[in-house]
Amino acid sequence: MSAVQQSPIIAEEQIQAVLSASQDVDAAKVREILAKALELKGLNESEVGVLCAVRDHDLREELYHTARKVKEEIYGRRLVLFAPLYVSNMCANECSYCAFRASSKALHRRALTQEEVAHETEILINQGHKRILLVAGESYPKEGFSYVTKCIETIYSVKNGPGEIRRVNANVAPLSVEEFRDLKAAKIGTYQLFQETYHQDTYKSVHLAGRKRDYNWRVTAMDRAMTAGIDDVGIGVLFGLYDWRFEILAIMQHAAHLEKEFGVGCHTISVPRIEPALNAPLSERPPYPVCDDDFRKVVAILRMAVPYTGIIMSTRETPEMRSETFSLGVSQISAGSRTNPGGYTDGEEEYDGSQFSLGDHRTLDEVVRDAAQLGYIPSFCTGCYRKGRTGADFMDLAKPGLIKNYCDVNAMSTFVEYLQNYASAETVALGEQCMANILATMPEARRKRAEGLMSRVRAGERDVYV
Ligand code: SAM
Ligand code: SF4
Repeated sequence: MSAVQQSPIIAEEQIQAVLSASQDVDAAKVREILAKALELKGLNESEVGVLCAVRDHDLREELYHTARKVKEEIYGRRLVLFAPLYVSNMCANECSYCAFRASSKALHRRALTQEEVAHETEILINQGHKRILLVAGESYPKEGFSYVTKCIETIYSVKNGPGEIRRVNANVAPLSVEEFRDLKAAKIGTYQLFQETYHQDTYKSVHLAGRKRDYNWRVTAMDRAMTAGIDDVGIGVLFGLYDWRFEILAIMQHAAHLEKEFGVGCHTISVPRIEPALNAPLSERPPYPVCDDDFRKVVAILRMAVPYTGIIMSTRETPEMRSETFSLGVSQISAGSRTNPGGYTDGEEEYDGSQFSLGDHRTLDEVVRDAAQLGYIPSFCTGCYRKGRTGADFMDLAKPGLIKNYCDVNAMSTFVEYLQNYASAETVALGEQCMANILATMPEARRKRAEGLMSRVRAGERDVYV
């Protein structure tokens, strides 16, 4: 093993020590930790190490059961929806798992023009989306990084009938503080960036060329984003590159570092698993594949470890796995996604131009219907970001449980808006039934507030939120 350069944020030796100390599972200890998780104050690294080692079937069920309770307590039944918008697949890096890597000649390269970005946005608006995650490879057309801020401006400028995009998040390569300031000025919601793997040797072995080879430039990106005033940041790992137990502990260290330095940890955590990608052999045979059982554990443990941080599940996963993990901890999902630039206009392509193959091919309407049938309220809310409830202000409301007074009612009003303008008749019927069931379980004050907002939407008002 090569000498590991000291990372300013991730203490690898400490993580390995926690993992080796927690190999023998003591059921009493596990139950003690699960009881602590129910206090909703999160868990420390050694507690998480113990949970990672749980294999026994019954204990694992207890772990899932506790995660479900934590999820229900904090997030209730709402599920936030978004769509990715891939604006470009041009890239100067060599990530051995990604179809966009520079040396791949087979990929059809494309950076959308602003007209094309507007057209893709219009399609998403017409489906009923309100949140977009802009995604790009790490190489921009001739105008450089300002291409990205122009795309954001374009997305916000598109209006169609009652529809518009109200929040643009972005997943783009690490930036300088100055560039992050530009991103903030473009009114970005969350800045999202995955470390891929926090394990330095593995990081070096899978990032073969380009700026992305620099581990520290990437791991310090969120510090620069926060320095520039972006206080909602989303971190993540590409599961399959290295041991998932190590990665979970590293995610916790990263979040703790941000909390210590900036007074607020990360807003979301994403849990992508490697999917097959064109000309990316590593994607077909990930070195540390995460099986479905372990993947459920990843979500459940994260839910208990950092209870107030959103967990995002993309359409890389199948509908079955997505539904299962809603109850274990997932709070945001993408729907109807395409991972090729121009994909909403051109339709889904198995590979040509796409970043990876999808596990869930359903339309937004189908995903919404399925969620409603399972008793979840699909939420199109963008209220917190637009009311300035971000960063530490968001956490101040979330931790004492006050955020439900906003999220639950806004979920209902935005869902009514969706049902009125975009849903199929079948989805409307299921959605109305689901809302009636949820209203019946709400505390009276919140229910009245929700009903007030919902009747304004039913009367024709749009974009109603608190
Ligand atoms: N180019 C930027 C970067 O690498 O950070 C941002 C966009 S990149 C397209 C977004 C994410 O896609 C990466 O961070 C990586 O985790 C994920 N990804 C790449 N290849 C993948 C694959 N084969 N399966 C699943 N996710 C993949
Ligand atoms: Fe480029 Fe990002 Fe894909 Fe790496 S993961 S090849 S940086 S688009």
